[in-house]
Amino acid sequence: MASQSDDIARYAHGVLDRLEADGLRRQMAVTRRAPGGSAVRDGKTMVCFCDNDYLGLSQHPRVIAAARDAAAAFGAGAGASRLVAGNAPLNEALESRIATLKGLEAARVFGSGYLANIGAIPVLAGRGDVIVLDELSHACMRAGAQLSGAETEIFKHNDLEDAEAKLRQAAKGDGRTLVLAETVYSMDGDLAPLAGLNALCDAYGAWLMTDDAHGFGVVDQANPAPIQMGTLSKACGAYGGYVAGPKPFVDLLTSRARSLVFTTGLPPAILGAALAALDVMADEPWRRARALDNAALFCREVGLPAPESAIVPLILGDPAATLAASARLEAAGFLVTAIRPPTVPRGTSRLRITFSADHDPADVVRLARLVGEATDGIRVEAAE
Ligand SMILES: *Cc1c(COP(=O)(O)O)cnc(C)c1O
Repeated sequence: MASQSDDIARYAHGVLDRLEADGLRRQMAVTRRAPGGSAVRDGKTMVCFCDNDYLGLSQHPRVIAAARDAAAAFGAGAGASRLVAGNAPLNEALESRIATLKGLEAARVFGSGYLANIGAIPVLAGRGDVIVLDELSHACMRAGAQLSGAETEIFKHNDLEDAEAKLRQAAKGDGRTLVLAETVYSMDGDLAPLAGLNALCDAYGAWLMTDDAHGFGVVDQANPAPIQMGTLSKACGAYGGYVAGPKPFVDLLTSRARSLVFTTGLPPAILGAALAALDVMADEPWRRARALDNAALFCREVGLPAPESAIVPLILGDPAATLAASARLEAAGFLVTAIRPPTVPRGTSRLRITFSADHDPADVVRLARLVGEATDGIRVEAAE
């Protein structure tokens, strides 16, 4: 009789072979990121144009020192859930800073942005309610919607008319309606029509919750949403997530958000790093400007419209072609990982190029020269 291990291995092989055949098998490579926007893989130093460290804060000496200091003061791990003994002193300092930055009453810090979404969404909506979300909403918003047990309705990307049709329908029911959108779409870099979405929510008695993972610290956009979540792992350079909103709602998260209650608090080093990163964001506003300037420079050089954020997608469509383009850029010293389904919709595999304050504009221009636009789509040329 085959052992369980053999059975599991056969099953996994079968799935992996199918993924491989479709060009969708995922792999990880050890990547050592370093200051100056660089990354070392297999001994080769490249310029990294695919991380979310938009301000370079994960490598900032003040942020690293704060992580070290917090670990020395409070230990390496939280030791328990925040509701038991794991609520290290830095949590509350970080929460009040985030609430002030967002202009909202209160904030709760979670283990990650993913945990924040899957924890908070089911607190806002459940069985009998409707969640209306943009078709490009991040996987963790969808996961939160699914966990909630609410009915989900998807509207066409950034399409207020379609969103209104879904809201009109939802308003006929007896339950609550929650609308979910990103402030800056993670794979496309475009902005949501937040004022329009909020006005629709007002008109149809719905609530708006936004995901600011790629906006926080980078894109300064007015956001009228009463509930705003985000991550501390991107421009903030550390780890963790947050949900901000009215104080009673934040208090309710402490009792009801399962991904807060049943998981260990963040390590003190991470909290210290995030707090220091917020200080650096305030003290060095040139970082934000420089990340956006680098994105704009790239778009000018390749003849694309001006970007709305620090993210510029080059959609190639076919996963194999995208992998090949990524490999060519890598050979020329630029790390731009291919993004394929299910991270993006089928037929829209892409190079997702992200810009940082740490990038040297000369490298941005070099990258632009390697990436050319052609009538049959985007053409990536090999190094000279
Ligand atoms: C990265 C991301 C998250 C998850 O944040 P983590 O802190 O990395 O778990 C949530 N939403 C969006 C839009 C993201 O891009």
